[in-house]
This record gives sequence, structure tokens and C-alpha cells, in this order.
Amino acid sequence: MAGLSREEFEAAIQAYVGQEIGPRWVAKDTVNEAMIRHYCAAVGDENPAYLDAEAAAASVHGGLVAPPTMLDSWTMPGMDAGWVHADGEPQDKQVELHRLFDANGYTGVVGTNQEQVYHRYLRPGDRLSALIVFDSISEQKATPLGLGYFITTRYTFFDQNQDEVGSMSFRVMKYKPAQEPKPVTEGAVAAAPAKPQRIRPPMGHDNAWWWEAVKAGELRIQRCKSCQTLRHPPRPMCGECRSMEWDSVVASGRGSLHSHTILHHPKFPGFDYPVICALVDLEEGTRLVSNVIDCDPEAVEIGMPLELTFEKVDDEMILPLFRPAK
Ligand SMILES: [Zn+2]
Repeated sequence: MAGLSREEFEAAIQAYVGQEIGPRWVAKDTVNEAMIRHYCAAVGDENPAYLDAEAAAASVHGGLVAPPTMLDSWTMPGMDAGWVHADGEPQDKQVELHRLFDANGYTGVVGTNQEQVYHRYLRPGDRLSALIVFDSISEQKATPLGLGYFITTRYTFFDQNQDEVGSMSFRVMKYKPAQEPKPVTEGAVAAAPAKPQRIRPPMGHDNAWWWEAVKAGELRIQRCKSCQTLRHPPRPMCGECRSMEWDSVVASGRGSLHSHTILHHPKFPGFDYPVICALVDLEEGTRLVSNVIDCDPEAVEIGMPLELTFEKVDDEMILPLFRPAK
């Protein structure tokens, strides 16, 4: 259904609201200790209720529990699930709806926010299923990325006894990218367009100072004035001693690769793909998300030594990036 008028298009998309996207997603694996351990390692959570069977048994939980924020991970179908049937037909209404957007020019997609509600802790052995319903689709909005619509999907999670254990509201925006490549007209020499800008970070009371330092060519790490613990990303309170007093130190710029992913798609304006998106362990002990540049994606290795570089990524933005250490 391409080339619909705006009224026809909006009527077509609104018809999805209230519908289930398809059969429930049933978790392939029960809640299990290995996945809990990997998740905790990835986010740096050392809560013994998740990791230490003995300590967990002696706690209010009476045994190991899963971090509540893993709620939606148990039923995720995974990259191998395939979003379309062998004949190319959409596997569920979510794919169908996104195709309808694509066919009408709203080809961009970006996740905007999610909220989760937990009714109880999940324990190893629980098997979850998810009922997924289109909750709402907004009216058309003008955004910095382009004209778009917010699609809110509601997930309700059930355990093996069909008791509700939690829910999630997940919102994406489907949009018409604002920076479409300009067609080259025959006989005319098209001027090279300025490189599109990257999306700007939200700057607020708690983090603007960090970006100001970056602009000045310094990678700073927030430090608790009371117990000297370093922390990143910037936030008002020390997680160790709850002091609100802080200053900062300048990072040496030496670090190593904690983990990474290579981004190919979707292609946002302002990035050169593939992007090596990296979690970098600084030698001072904190970790930050950045990009590795001047490196063949094939050559990226966990643990590789990295060094900081400040790069001008568009006409005005400077970012602290990393390259393999010499
Ligand atoms: Zn502190």
C-alpha cells in the first residue's frame, strides 16, 4: 500500500491499534544463571542476589533472582528468528506495519523510550511468554530527524502459571528522513552537500560540564569529593557513599576495548559506516561508550589497547573517539 494520501495512510496505520502483533513470544530458555551472569558482567552489576547463590539464599529473596531489567530479554526472539517467512511475507503484524510505513516513505526507525513495570522477581526456572499489542500510534510529529509517528507497543509478560509478572511499554518512531539525497539533474554539476550533522547529545544540568570539557579537548571523569570514587556517565550522586560533592580528573586517554559491536544498519546521517561502537575501559577504571576509528572492523579484538583522539565529526562537533594504540 504505497502512495496513500495522508488521510488514507493514517487510517491504515490506526487500524493496527489494539491488535496483537501475532502469537505470543515464548521464551526459548527458562530464566537461567548463565544469562543472568552475562547480563550482570555486561552492565557491571555485582549484586550478590543475582550472582552468589549462598548470599542470595540468606537474603530476603531466599535464592538467586534475575535483575528486573532483564524482563524483556527472556522472550526476545534473537537475530536468527527471521522476521519474514520463507516466501517473504511478514511473520507478524509488527513487520507488516513497518512495511506499510516504509512503502509510504517513512523508512527511518529509531527507538525512543521504554518503561517497565515489575510485579515480582524472576527466578531461575521461570519460563516467560509475552503478549504484544499495538498500544497507540501518535499523530504526525515534526522532529529533528524528519516527519514521523511514534508507535507504542505494550508487552505483557506471563510466567509458566500464566500469572502476569511484568509489563513494558516500548516506543519507536518511524520517520521520513529529513536529509534525503538530492537527485543529480542532468547537465548540472551538483555541489557536494555539506556532511550531515550527527544527532546532538541531550545536555542537561548534570552532564553539560562533561561536554564543555570535550569541546576544550579534555576527557574528564567525575570524582566523588568525599570518597574519591570515579564515575561515568556524569550524575549528581556518588553510588558508593551518596555524596553530592564532586570534582573531576582528566583521563590519560589510555584504555582498552571492553566490548564492541559493528553497526551497519540503520544508517543515520552523519556517520561513516560501518561504525565500530565500543565500550572502552579507561585505565582509571571507568568505562564509556565511544567509537573506534582508523581500524579495520575485522581487526577489532576485545582487550586491544586503545588511545584517545579528539575528532571533528561534522562542521562543529568534536567527539572523544579511540584508535588502536601505537
Ligand atoms: Zn563517594
